[in-house]
Amino acid sequence: MNKNMVYYSTRGGDGPVTASEAVLKGLAADGGLFVPSWIPCFESSIEEMSRMDYRELAYEVMKLYLTDYTEEELKACITGAYDEKFDTEDIVPLAKVGKDYFLELFHGSTIAFKDMALSILPHLMVTAAKKQGLDKEIVILTATSGDTGKAALAGFAGVPGTKIMVFYPEDGVSEIQKLQMVTQKESNTCVMSIKGNFDDAQSGVKKLFANELLRRDAEAKGYQFSSANSINIGRLVPQIVYYVYAYTRLVAAGEIEVGQEVNVTVPTGNFGNILAAWLAKEMGLPIKKLICASNENKVLTDFFRSGNYDRRRNFILTSSPSMDILISSNLERLLYWLSGSDAAQTARMMDLLTMMGSYQITDEMRRSIPEFYGEFAAEEEVAKTIKACADKYGYVMDTHTAVAACVSHKYQSETGDDLPMLIASTASPYKFPASVLSAVGESCGDGDWKVLMGKLCQISGIAIPKAVADLYDAPVCHTGNCAPAHMEQSVRKFLGI
Ligand SMILES: *Cc1c(COP(=O)(O)O)cnc(C)c1O
Repeated sequence: MNKNMVYYSTRGGDGPVTASEAVLKGLAADGGLFVPSWIPCFESSIEEMSRMDYRELAYEVMKLYLTDYTEEELKACITGAYDEKFDTEDIVPLAKVGKDYFLELFHGSTIAFKDMALSILPHLMVTAAKKQGLDKEIVILTATSGDTGKAALAGFAGVPGTKIMVFYPEDGVSEIQKLQMVTQKESNTCVMSIKGNFDDAQSGVKKLFANELLRRDAEAKGYQFSSANSINIGRLVPQIVYYVYAYTRLVAAGEIEVGQEVNVTVPTGNFGNILAAWLAKEMGLPIKKLICASNENKVLTDFFRSGNYDRRRNFILTSSPSMDILISSNLERLLYWLSGSDAAQTARMMDLLTMMGSYQITDEMRRSIPEFYGEFAAEEEVAKTIKACADKYGYVMDTHTAVAACVSHKYQSETGDDLPMLIASTASPYKFPASVLSAVGESCGDGDWKVLMGKLCQISGIAIPKAVADLYDAPVCHTGNCAPAHMEQSVRKFLGI
């Protein structure tokens, strides 16, 4: 029997709530993020976990956090999520390339790592709603710059008791990302382009959440709004699983001995994926260094070097757009733990970030995180990394993964640390074909995307994934476009309120 885990806001103004309440709420009432009241340890040994398949291991890890879900409920969520939507039995295969191990997190339905969490979040939410006797249909409202929108659509499509509405900037997503979204068929989905950029879409969605009249009208018709944003604890917890899985696969394959330390490099934007790796380490997984890889938006590199977080800088558009971010929301959880669960101090730092655009952590906090190493990769280094690996090993990686690979090699040559290196591989090269092709020296011109896919197939030797093949003759189902000021009307129309 598990002790009951409860969750508190990092800013002290919400909680205790149960896991399922935290999943349903998403963000804490005071604007903070929910954190578990302690970090649990594994209940089974690494040897035992090495004999589990992905779904068994997912239960073993997630049950420690989601303690108010029954065994039956949690297992049903897991089997509903990690099934044949993934194109491999392994769910997350490990590719050994040279001396590195690439943990391929992109074998789900939208070929980016967001699928790892967004394929289970709808199940966790619907179960939470049932547990709490919520008699309303959940309506997810999301703004996206590309990857999250499609992964959320795929996760919630056809899930009874839910509807999802996604807003994307009309000129701010790649052609493939747009096609992926507007071809979503299910009638509980709605996709709208916004006349504006991602910030307009995001602040528009925030306004929808704050709109009291809209909320009341929705409730009267049996709807409750919720968010699939990456700060939801229901997205963080499922991400811990694959780090444990990767380690146990290395053990099972005889690549490492039980207990041997490994290093992990994660291409980082919102700090969710790498925070999950840190939690795995805190739970007892033998990880030595957590290498935080940034693109040219290197706020986190500077933070780990100086203890100063400063977002007052130019936003740079790079070839790894899912990491183009200056406010890494999930870092708030790390700060909270580093401060010894001091919610008042965490709240002060977040206020400083909002008001001044920067904050400084104490020397004591800095000394307490020697396991983190921050570094970044410049655009030409990213392209070189893709080309070098393709030439030498015939392994073609995407731009986000290349940021991580480049930084992991910088770390190794700077420190001489040659422990086995696990690299989180967050997207299929098919998601960013133009950048990948130009990195390996192929001309793309203004070629049709189908031509690019054919070329990529030739040079990578990777079969065109189903997520892409499905787009070839998929009918467009969503053509809606509106000004940010008319988003409320679109929501009302979709819900019939
Ligand atoms: C979202 C995303 C990232 C960044 O992950 P965080 O959890 O936000 O740090 C990296 N790569 C890809 C392909 C992504 O979609």
